[in-house]
Amino acid sequence: MTAGAAAITKGRGRGRCSPRLVLLLLSILGLPLIGTSAAASMRMVATTTDLASLAEAITGDLAQVETIIPPAADPEAFEPRPSDLAKLKGASIVVRVGLGYDHWLDKLLSMQGDAAVNRGGVGYVDASVGIPLLELKGSRLDPASRDAHAHGLANPHYWLDPANAEIISGGIAEAMIRVSSETSAKIIANRGGFLSRLRTSLAGWEQLLAPHRAARLIAYHNTWPYFARRFRLNVVDVIEVKEGVAPSPARLAKLYAIMREQGIRLIVHEPFEPEEASQLLARRTGAAVVKLAPSVGSMPATTNYVALFDYNVSTLAQALAAASK
Ligand SMILES: [Zn+2]
Repeated sequence: MTAGAAAITKGRGRGRCSPRLVLLLLSILGLPLIGTSAAASMRMVATTTDLASLAEAITGDLAQVETIIPPAADPEAFEPRPSDLAKLKGASIVVRVGLGYDHWLDKLLSMQGDAAVNRGGVGYVDASVGIPLLELKGSRLDPASRDAHAHGLANPHYWLDPANAEIISGGIAEAMIRVSSETSAKIIANRGGFLSRLRTSLAGWEQLLAPHRAARLIAYHNTWPYFARRFRLNVVDVIEVKEGVAPSPARLAKLYAIMREQGIRLIVHEPFEPEEASQLLARRTGAAVVKLAPSVGSMPATTNYVALFDYNVSTLAQALAAASK
């Protein structure tokens, strides 16, 4: 039993076929643990670049991974095109964010018709399963932010806590092993190696942001609760009351008062969001605007999941250091 095999099952209750069991059976039967050419031609489709990057990290050359939402688009305003339907044709595994973030996928999957990648199929992965969710609808937590945000069942930006990569990659690994059991040894080894490197990186990121513990920020969109919890930051409020709608003058006045009262010196903004409100607040309060990447590929340096945090953490640490001077 490898640590990787044990880790895959951690925190996930819906796996149909335990990787431990697969490994045990393969070793009893004396079957080779090396992937076949059928596995090499496997196609996986992830709705977002973040899930695709995590999938690539653990599948290596065992699967071809495609993404539906382009990295430069606002994912929550995304509407699928006919070419996205074509991507799903022949896919062995489909990975989604869930929680309403990629709600349009259900319609595409019902049109595409392959039962294996539809909800409940062996190749269907809702990556949110097993994630400790924040801002659950109906909970008593943080009613202010609930009012200010129209996400689905909970805040869906959970990939922005690197520790959640363990659960997300576990779901993808389980699906790979369900669909193609001969890939299990390689998948478990790849995932173990990736998570070990990620943990080392995470320790470095935590160290970089440690001097800014409990730093107060304003964000344009409510993207950062998982990131903020991991790195001990305090996102006090968000500018955007309703997704895609510019804030009213009354809202801006309220934010101005909060920023002045609490001495907030930094506004977190994302590349595809309208800049007027953030810039106006920054001018009025003397705060700085820092652009962070909400997803892999949404800024040039964020080429993969690890690079996403390398960029966001170092950019934010620099901006917080400059803002506190
Ligand atoms: Zn959002």
